[in-house]
Parts: sequence; C-alpha cells; structure tokens
Amino acid sequence: MKTLTLRPDRRTGKYAKARERMVREQLLPRGVTDPRVLEAMARLPRDFFVDEALRGRAYGDHPLPIGEGQTISQPYVVALMTQALRLRGREKVLEIGTGCGYQTAILAALCDRVYTVERLKSLHIKARRVFDELHLFNILCKIDDGTLGWPEHGPYDAIMVTAAGPRVPEPLIAQLADPGILVMPVGGREGVQELVTVVKEQGETREQVLDSVRFVSLIGDHGWRAASS
Ligand code: SAH
Repeated sequence: MKTLTLRPDRRTGKYAKARERMVREQLLPRGVTDPRVLEAMARLPRDFFVDEALRGRAYGDHPLPIGEGQTISQPYVVALMTQALRLRGREKVLEIGTGCGYQTAILAALCDRVYTVERLKSLHIKARRVFDELHLFNILCKIDDGTLGWPEHGPYDAIMVTAAGPRVPEPLIAQLADPGILVMPVGGREGVQELVTVVKEQGETREQVLDSVRFVSLIGDHGWRAASS
C-alpha cells in the first residue's frame, strides 16, 4: 500500500485534531469506510488549500469559497467521490477542475499519478504552489478546457470531474480505460445535481447514481457555456 509522505512541517500538525474529528464525525457515520481514504483525509492538511482567513473553518462540514466564484467541496463529498473510484495505489487518474487542489492532493495520496486540468489560471497557479509546498510530486497540472480530457496521457484508470455538467463529456468516456471508473456530478446549472459513476467493463459502460449534490458549473465545449455563467 502506498504511504503518504508529507513534508515534515510544524504547520501540517496544527489541525491534526480537527482532521481526526472530521473523519469521526463527518465521514464514518455517513458510510465512508475505505481505510485508505480515511487515512488520507486524516493526514492531508486541508487548511493549506484555503485562504488564511478561512483556515479555522477548513475542517467544517461545508464547502468554502476559494476565489473566482468557485468552492472547495465539503469534506464528506470529497471522501465520497474518492471512495467511489476504489483506488488501490497503482492507478493513473485524471481530474477535471483542480480548484484549490485539495481533492487533487487526496487523489495523489492514493494512486500512482494524477493529471489535473483547471480552466482558471489563478486557481491553477495557487494549487501548484501548495503541491510544491507539500512535496506532492506525482501531480501534473495544466490550464485548459477539461471537458476535452487530456488525451496525450490517456487512457485513465479513473476519472473525477469536480464541477457539474449537463452530461458526462464524451471525450472523458473515450479516455477512460477498460476496466475504468468515472465519477461526476450531472444536472442543471442551478439547484441539486446527481453524483453519478460510470463503470467501463468489457467494452460496456453502466451508470449509477450515488447521491444528490450541489456543485459549481463545468464550463467548456462538452459542458455549459461560459457566456451565461
Ligand atoms: N476539486 C476542487 C473543486 C473546485 S470547484 C477543489 O477541491 O477545490 C470546480 C472547479 O472546476 C473550479 O475551479 C472551476 O474553475 C473548474 N472548472 C469548471 N469547468 C472546467 C473545465 N471545463 N475544465 C477545467 N476546469 C473546470
């Protein structure tokens, strides 16, 4: 099993108790049971990924703003989506919507390599800085429309989309390995969406709904249009 090697730093220990409480009170009672996911969530400093003024609230049971009108997902939603990918440590994972990079870092702790795409430059730059600070060297990031995937490095054993679109983008299904698994919120721009998984196996894909969620919009060629955002 891959172990998470974080750069030893006094700051990473600061909220250790808050992280343990988050796991105990928000994740375990709601059915997050994968021990590797729980361990990664208990160890990775979520506070590093939010603005200084919000650090004290980083482990609360809610999303938080990360700038540019975007949000870091509630811890439970990060855990649920991560668990859905059933990562064992050797996978190549594609993530669409780097945002602040927290979900990326959780994935990086649980698989071999993460390719992550973000459309907004300012978020991409900030996230990269935190990856370096935490010595997470198995993450590759770029600025682009992630609804097109990242074909050069595919196929991917697992794909996660962290913004909600009208449907699962076709290029992402095409870049999913067989066997492979994708998780993404699908639904309208406003209100509640469905968190769906797409499993590709022996040439066939099947979809399953996991939960109701609320995400910011996926904007791009195979998502929503930027003009009306
Ligand atoms: N996982 C992120 C979630 C951020 S919110 C986190 O933990 O912080 C969703 C992100 O998806 C936003 O940063 C938004 O800019 C980005 N996004 C929306 N459409 C995108 C697209 N087509 N390609 C790449 N990123 C996109």
